[in-house]
Amino acid sequence: AGDFGRHGDDAVDLATRHLIQPWPVAGSAGAEARALIGEGDGIHITDGDGKRLIDGPAGMWCINVGHRREELARVMYEQAMQLSYNTPWYTMNAPSAELARRIADHAPGDLSHVFYTTGGSSAVETALRFMQFTNNVRGRREKKLILSRGGAYHGSTYLSASLNGRPRDRDWMDGADGLVVKLTAPNPFRRPARVSRKTFADFLVEEFRQTVEEIGAERIGAFVGEPIQASGGVIVPPDGYLKRIREICRANDILYVSDEVVTAFGRLGHVFASGEVFGLDPDMITFAKGVTSGYFPLGGVVISGRLLEELRKSNHPDAMFAHGLTYTSHPVGCAVALKNLDLLEDGILAHAREVAPYFQTQLKTLEALPLVGEVRGMGLMACVECVADRDSNNPLELDNAVGKRIDRHCHELGLLVRPLINMCVMSPPLIITCEQIDTMVAILREG
Ligand code: PLP
Repeated sequence: AGDFGRHGDDAVDLATRHLIQPWPVAGSAGAEARALIGEGDGIHITDGDGKRLIDGPAGMWCINVGHRREELARVMYEQAMQLSYNTPWYTMNAPSAELARRIADHAPGDLSHVFYTTGGSSAVETALRFMQFTNNVRGRREKKLILSRGGAYHGSTYLSASLNGRPRDRDWMDGADGLVVKLTAPNPFRRPARVSRKTFADFLVEEFRQTVEEIGAERIGAFVGEPIQASGGVIVPPDGYLKRIREICRANDILYVSDEVVTAFGRLGHVFASGEVFGLDPDMITFAKGVTSGYFPLGGVVISGRLLEELRKSNHPDAMFAHGLTYTSHPVGCAVALKNLDLLEDGILAHAREVAPYFQTQLKTLEALPLVGEVRGMGLMACVECVADRDSNNPLELDNAVGKRIDRHCHELGLLVRPLINMCVMSPPLIITCEQIDTMVAILREG
């Protein structure tokens, strides 16, 4: 079975002729093959030429416990042999129930119930449809607008993508624009010119408060935000700001959806970061990626028990949340997630917390390079942002794809980088050692 990746030339040729990859540009849509990856092992992957690389982005922020974990492969085999699938409409399975209990145990506040999806976009979509449903049931049909922010990434389904805040994700795509209100990106490095770093949190909170006041809380259903904006360039928000937003949401009955598709399951050293790292008790948390360490497509939403209680007490006991996916509560996905959670709890979360300061300080040394405007991050996620000159921090004069050029050099040297225009994002598997961090940073410096 493992032979697929070794037929390098065939695969590249076939991809060029038949495969559409994510985010293609019109000029090469369906006609561009990307670097072939044949194998993975621990923090490493091997490309089609047999070159071993550190998996800098851990796939797409997801291979948290590392590649080729036999325990995970085995549990998928065993679960598939026992029960590969059951309809979640009329039946249920034990792994999904057990996983829901363990997720609820880790979740902050009164988050007690889990709805499983196939990934992050469908998790965000589910949270938003749930907000729409509860407001319909509670007779608040006007309370549907969604607050989102510049720099956000929440997915590629129609509604989740409408929340995305990076201009290049929106330029050529349609969206449910009438439903979404965008706020300033919480990016201290690229804050508005007239605002100081010290007053930036106040600025963001005031903008939020004013927006709610101007639109009217009776028209706003939810705020959706990543605790740390991941694909926006690992944007660590100013201290205390998220908690203050949470309080405004609570006071105005606006549901706070914490999108932890990237940050949950260990990236910040905890199963969920909302409570443990940011002191938040959201109404819903969305998760995906690290829940199975990328071994199986699974995501979900953890929902507040209070919201479900309100529904049960509503005047419309027959109103139906007409929402479900064929693969909701997939037994193989939930079984692998349970084993993945065992691995995280049995030492990997503690390891991630231990190496994170070293990871951050070593990457920070790259700020000595004239090309680097800022290195920022938290836990095991970081971003190296390149600038044309450090006085203006202007990224625009740079070659538009400086990240890609750095990635090409690093690839030669044994490191896969996640290039984001003028930024390089690093989020390796959580099992990375200090020695491997040294190698990673040395290659990135060279690149
Ligand atoms: N939310 C966040 C914060 C993400 O980073 C992503 C994907 O990168 C998504 C949602 C969408 O998840 P998926 O690609 O699994 O649909």
